[in-house]
Amino acid sequence: MQETPMSGEWITQDAQGAMSVPPNPNIGFIEGDGSGPDIWAAARPVLDAAVLKAYGGQKKLHWFELLAGARSMKETGEPLPAKTIELIRKCVVAIKGPLTTPVGTGMRSLNVTIRRVLDLYACIRPVRYFPGIPSPVRHPERVNMIVYRENTEDVYAGIEWESGSPEAERFTRFLLDTFNVTLPAKSGVGVKPISPGGTKRLVRRAIAHAINRGLPSVTLVHKGNIMKYTEGAFRKWGFELAKEEFADRTVTEEEVQSAHGGKAPEGKVVIKERIADSMFQQVLLRPEEYSVIATPNLNGDYLSDALAAQVGGLGMAPGANIGDEAAVFEATHGTAPKYAGLDKVNPGSVILSGAMMLDHLGWVEAAKLIEEAIERTIGAGIATYDLARQMKGAKEVGCSAFGRAIIDHMS
Ligand code: NAP
Repeated sequence: MQETPMSGEWITQDAQGAMSVPPNPNIGFIEGDGSGPDIWAAARPVLDAAVLKAYGGQKKLHWFELLAGARSMKETGEPLPAKTIELIRKCVVAIKGPLTTPVGTGMRSLNVTIRRVLDLYACIRPVRYFPGIPSPVRHPERVNMIVYRENTEDVYAGIEWESGSPEAERFTRFLLDTFNVTLPAKSGVGVKPISPGGTKRLVRRAIAHAINRGLPSVTLVHKGNIMKYTEGAFRKWGFELAKEEFADRTVTEEEVQSAHGGKAPEGKVVIKERIADSMFQQVLLRPEEYSVIATPNLNGDYLSDALAAQVGGLGMAPGANIGDEAAVFEATHGTAPKYAGLDKVNPGSVILSGAMMLDHLGWVEAAKLIEEAIERTIGAGIATYDLARQMKGAKEVGCSAFGRAIIDHMS
């Protein structure tokens, strides 16, 4: 059974959610299934090396393992013990590798369960280009965005019933009797809830991020022209929140035109809005015009993967799921089971998620060291098989060797 760590100190949060991070915080990690242990074994020394280099021993991460997935099944008989959730809450910040979701067993995804139980409502995916990585577009270097995707609502809320089920039939009859709405016979049905509270807490984080980092804009991406009372309401509530809570730090794109001669006032974040389908064109054609993106669940799912493809794929895409009581950083790819134990896959995604985590702790110097070292490593043509097979003259290395190369390129 997993033990509560004794060596480090706990991160704490005040009533407003502001974190207090000791120099020796306890940080929980879930290795993950399949290739998870391979990427974690490569990533952890990189994170430790960056912290040591940045703070000369004044700060140190105190890792402790949280059980989940196959490993947990073996040791506790449960895929996600309550103790694991309790410890994530206790440590406030955790990092995880990918976990298997068995197909066709009726078992719920552990990733989804972690997000739901801890109410990790913001799925955050930064997307940037590392020179040298093969990309399908001519100017991948123009992409530098961070997607804030709402994580708990929308058609992903899990409120749906199968075609022909008694629930679907009953729901269909209810729509007919109450609203005189007729659905095609035997429709499967789903519900798309989007709430003011769910929207505002997500947009609040997105705007705060832009302000804290001095970024130029936050774009609300929605399909409100068609789905007026869900996606359209997301747009409306997003603008409302900007006015209610950040009036002195934000300006709308429309105000920039009407009141500021087309130039955003110094120090203000421009709140933009785009219809989702148009946004997919915009990020391909004029990516430099977008910075922070805030969007409902389904749009955000598609957009973050499409953006990751623009800069060379999911292998290097980091991510985090953040709520008011905890933040879980994670590799965005799956368990890549056919490579498990072969020390072969790319650990870049979990390493960059670790850099995001350091940034979240306020340890920005260490995070920057990692990003720069990855840039240099790839710039030197050193890469795992997935990238090397597309890079001219690359030196292909294994998972752990890639991690070591990153440490060697830290300066
Ligand atoms: P996957 O594990 O992401 O693997 C699909 C392919 O993507 C791999 O065969 C490999 O391509 C490439 N790939 C993935 N990770 C890589 C890495 N680190 N380095 C290099 N290449 C990488 O997707 P999947 O096969 O659909 O899913 C497998 C399991 O993972 C499922 O049980 C699924 O539920 C789970 N999953 C978990 C998460 C999560 O925990 N957040 C997310 C997604 C999926 P090549 O074969 O071309 O080399």
